[in-house]
Amino acid sequence: MRFHTLVYIYIVRLLSMKQNINIDDIKADTILPTELGNFRMRVFVDEKGAEHSVLSVGLDDTTKSPLVRIHSECLTGDAFGSLKCDCGPQLKASMARIQEEGCGAILYMRQEGRGIGLEQKMRAYALQERGFDTLDANLALNLPADGRDYGFSAFMLNQVGIDSVRLMTNNPLKINGLHENGIQVEERVEHITGRCHTNSHYLSTKADRMGHLIPEQA
Ligand SMILES: [Zn+2]
Repeated sequence: MRFHTLVYIYIVRLLSMKQNINIDDIKADTILPTELGNFRMRVFVDEKGAEHSVLSVGLDDTTKSPLVRIHSECLTGDAFGSLKCDCGPQLKASMARIQEEGCGAILYMRQEGRGIGLEQKMRAYALQERGFDTLDANLALNLPADGRDYGFSAFMLNQVGIDSVRLMTNNPLKINGLHENGIQVEERVEHITGRCHTNSHYLSTKADRMGHLIPEQA
């Protein structure tokens, strides 16, 4: 093992002890270079075996609440560039914003399709082709409108030493979800990007029927 790797591991252990973190909960800890800059990436595994990540920049050097984005996995939007939603542009924009700020974290949570999974999400898409909106499609499949839970997100934030955040979101459920799990949301930072002709109806439905804070002209 190279000397600087050993030094890095030593520093991580020292910081972990300082923040009373059980590093056994962090399954991997490394640096990920991306086209938007370098991120520290830590991996967690929840009680169901799902692997979640924290991508962060500069958390150890800050005294103010960091910018945080909780991003739910969207295979179609994040990896394939789907225009049915705004997930891909939102993820990239949050990575760029955090790099710009020099401090913050993205939690990448493996809760595809607002928590219903890829198979059900694609079945809901098929219903949307027949005229259902994003909410009615879920309900027609006997699925929750939003099945996400923020308990494990709050646990991950605690594990990386964060108990107060400036949350990049348009979704009040995320703010409540963190509050309920002991994380203070000091400020909501509007996070709107990626609206296009194809996803405009989807975003309007989230605003009109699901309480998301998305201005019509965005
Ligand atoms: Zn999406």
